[in-house]
Order: sequence, then C-alpha cells, then structure tokens
Amino acid sequence: MSASEQLGKRAQRATVSLAPVYDQQNAWQEILPPPGEATPLTGDRTADYVVVGAGYSGLAACRRLAELNPDASVMLIEGDRIGNNAAGRSSGFAIDHAHNIRAKSFAENIEPAKREVALNREALQYLEDTIVEHGIDCDWRREGKYHAAATAKGEKLLEGFAASLDAIDEDYSRHEAAALQAHFGSGFYRSAIHAPHSYLVQPAAMVRGLADTMPDNVTVHESTMVTEVDFGPPHTLHTSTGGVGRGSVTTPNLVLATNGFVEGFGFFAKHLIPMITWGSMTRELTDEEVDRLGGVESYGIIAAHPAGTSVRRTASRRILIRNIFSYSRRSSIVGKPLETARATHRQSFLNRYPMLADVPFEFTWGGALSLTRNGAPVFGELGNPGDGVWGTVVHNGVGIAKGTISGKLLAEKMSGHESDSIALMDSKGRPSRNFPEPFNSWGVRMNARWRRQQAGLEE
Ligand SMILES: Cc1cc2nc3c(=O)[nH]c(=O)nc-3n(C[C@H](O)[C@H](O)[C@H](O)COP(=O)(O)OP(=O)(O)OC[C@H]3O[C@@H](n4cnc5c(N)ncnc54)[C@H](O)[C@@H]3O)c2cc1C
Repeated sequence: MSASEQLGKRAQRATVSLAPVYDQQNAWQEILPPPGEATPLTGDRTADYVVVGAGYSGLAACRRLAELNPDASVMLIEGDRIGNNAAGRSSGFAIDHAHNIRAKSFAENIEPAKREVALNREALQYLEDTIVEHGIDCDWRREGKYHAAATAKGEKLLEGFAASLDAIDEDYSRHEAAALQAHFGSGFYRSAIHAPHSYLVQPAAMVRGLADTMPDNVTVHESTMVTEVDFGPPHTLHTSTGGVGRGSVTTPNLVLATNGFVEGFGFFAKHLIPMITWGSMTRELTDEEVDRLGGVESYGIIAAHPAGTSVRRTASRRILIRNIFSYSRRSSIVGKPLETARATHRQSFLNRYPMLADVPFEFTWGGALSLTRNGAPVFGELGNPGDGVWGTVVHNGVGIAKGTISGKLLAEKMSGHESDSIALMDSKGRPSRNFPEPFNSWGVRMNARWRRQQAGLEE
C-alpha cells in the first residue's frame, strides 16, 4: 500500500477528528482506589520520542524506547486516565494462543502457528518480568484459560481445538461436566479444555502499575488529548486538557498507539473495523453467596464458540460476564446498545449462576477494539518512509499479548534492532481496504448478528 493510500488527503496540519470518550462505569478501574492527580501537559515542550496512547501497545512501546535509549527523553500522552481506556476495560485474559478456536489461521499452518504462540509468549514474559521487577499489584496469576462448551456444537468445536493443539505440540487437559461444576460452582458447562500457559490479571491495576513504573527518562501526561498535529518532521502535537488547559510537544519521532482512533489522525480511515465489546461485573459476593456458589476463588472461561461469553470469577469475589460486539467508531455509545448488552449479560449470568439470581451487576461498560478484514495489524512506519511517524494498532481483540508485543517490537525496530520477531511482525502485511460504505458497515453488522445466532446458548 502506498503512503498516499494510507494517508488519504492528509494535510500537514491535521485536526484529530475522532477521539475516545469513556464513562466512569469500568468496574476494574472503579473498584481500585482513585488514581492520584493527573499531570496534564502544559506549555510548549520537546521530546526525542512521543508515544500517544497508554493502552497495552503504547505502554510497551514507551517502556522499550526508554530502556533502549536511556539518554533520550520519552513522553507518553494519554487522553483519559490510565485504566479507564480499553486496556483497563478488558476482561484480563492475557492469552498465549487462540481466543477464537475456529480462527482459520490457528494451526492450519503449523510452523507459523507455533511462531505466533511464541510471539505472544514473548509479550507475556515481558509483562511478567516488569510486574515482578516492580512488584506491580495487579492479581497477575498463571491460571491458564478454560475453553468451555455448553452445547453439542461447542463440544464439536472443542474437538477441533484439541486437534489443533496436538498439531502444534501444545499442552492441555480435558475436563468433564462434574469436575467443571466442582471447579466453577456453575453446572452450566458440558466439557472444557484447559490450556495452562495463559495468565489472568486485573487489567486496570496492571496498566496503572505499568505507567507508574516507567524508566526515569519517561514523562507521563494523562488527561491530555491530542487535538491537532502539525506533521513535519519534526512533528508538533497540540493538546487539550478538558478543553481548558493547552500544551504542545515537538518531536522527530511520533508513535501512534491509539487503537482505532488512529483514523482520527488521518491514517487508515478505510481499513479498520471499529467494534465495541461489553462487560458487566457483579458487586462483591457475601460469605453466604460464596458458600452457595462453591467452586474455587478465581478462574477464566472462554466460550467454545467465538461469539460466546467470557467469564471471570475474581479473587475479589466478583463475577464478570463479557459478550456482544457492536459496530461503532465511537467509544461513547450508550443508550440502547448499553441496555442490550446489560440485558444479555444478565441472561448469560443467570444461565450460568442461577444460585446467585439475587446478585446484581454493579457495573456495565463498553470498550473499543479494532479489527481488520485480513487480520493484519498496523505495525511500522505510517506515511512517508523516514518521516518518523510510526504506528502500533489493531490487535484483533487480543490486545494484552498482541498489543504488548507489537509495541515492544516497534520500539526495537525504531531503535535499529533486527530480530526474527520483528521480521514476523513485518511479514503480517498491512490491513486490507474495507468494502465501500454502506456495504462495509452493513456487512459487519450482519456478520455480528449471524455469529450471535450461531453462538446460541454459548452466549
Ligand atoms: C470489554 C472488553 C474485554 C476485552 N477482553 C480482552 C481480554 O480479556 N484479553 C485481551 O487480550 N484483550 C481484551 N480486549 C481487547 C483489548 O482491550 C484491546 O485489544 C486493547 O485495549 C488494545 O490495546 P491498545 O493499546 O491498542 O489500545 P487502547 O487500550 O484503546 O489504548 C489506546 C489509547 O489511546 C488513547 N488515545 C486515543 N486517541 C487519543 C488522542 N487523540 N489523544 C490522546 N490519547 C488518545 C486512548 O485514550 C487509549 O488509552 C477486550 C476489550 C474490551 C473492550
């Protein structure tokens, strides 16, 4: 794809036309102690590197740039509070291989599938090393993930998953209904495959902790939205704090780690598929409710059907339900989509936990993901080669591993490194162009609806 195709008619000065706006309903963030005061960007600054976006990708890019360039100044700019972004809104499955066990790419080509798993594990290792080194308190636990079936169709999918895992020499164990009931408390599932090498985490605590423990050559500015960019090089970013305070920073090296909102900067306007997915979390269970439920204190379940429901039971005695994908460029969609999500989550919860029918949800929230038609990420230079504008975007709903590794490897590439992992990221190609509108949005919505129907009781 040529630079002009990516950029469209990008002006030298771009007004950032699309920005995330999130409510205060993200359970993971709200159940933590309130964050300290933000330090928004003020005045006119310079930095050797500026990373925009403090999700998984931006945090990894920023840390790695600072590690590899200890004499350089690195600035991380985040529009919201860290933890209230999509990264902090995730379900906290830090997974090493397929979420979607029907994904065509998974284990159809054995060697690429193995390399993909190794890449994800490189990300999880980087996260674990950082969490351990800095003692980040985020309930990071290597519990693996259960892929669980509630229907005959789901069980068939699990058979295919087992065959794929065999093909790539991956460990797993099988579990039948009685054992699952003893473990989960819920008798909803017929069988499951447990893949042991994934982690579970409190996502908002993790991203806050990652930002708080950056190397000394990093400055972090939260509540600082980039509203305009004068593209150079050098590039000048103009920022706003709640429409009141203003600031700017000029840099030769700009990294956009802004999820689908990269479109607002003039890139990939016709290539990304922006989606919202939704979570709900109960209030804390009482001692009596914990006894009523039974099972162990913490686990993570991914539905056998890819459009089904993910479930977390947390050590903080809450249950999370995640399902539904809504097509939207805006992160702030509420009203009917939010009500639909909450009602669907409630039914999914009651199906699994009828013994807790009197336990309400305390929070329901949505968060943005970006997908592409061909599954390719945005990784590398954006625009004209040598201009110093880089991107790490599109992690296809598996942002903890894929966002982290993409950000880390982008920093290594920018710092002149070469490696097999960078070559693998480069080999993934570039996002393909969407179908023209209105066919694109119509097709995406129809596909989401069809997949929901297919999921049936797995939802
Ligand atoms: C409900 C839900 C459950 C999920 N569960 C999982 C899961 O269990 N496991 C998993 O791996 N993934 C999960 N995901 C997906 C994961 O959250 C995303 O893939 C991930 O957050 C993408 O990371 P990112 O760094 O690219 O983007 P983000 O986390 O969205 O970070 C981008 C940042 O850029 C900032 N930004 C954008 N524009 C500007 C601007 N103009 N100025 C300043 N800042 C700006 C945003 O505020 C944001 O903080 C889930 C997502 C949701 C919503």
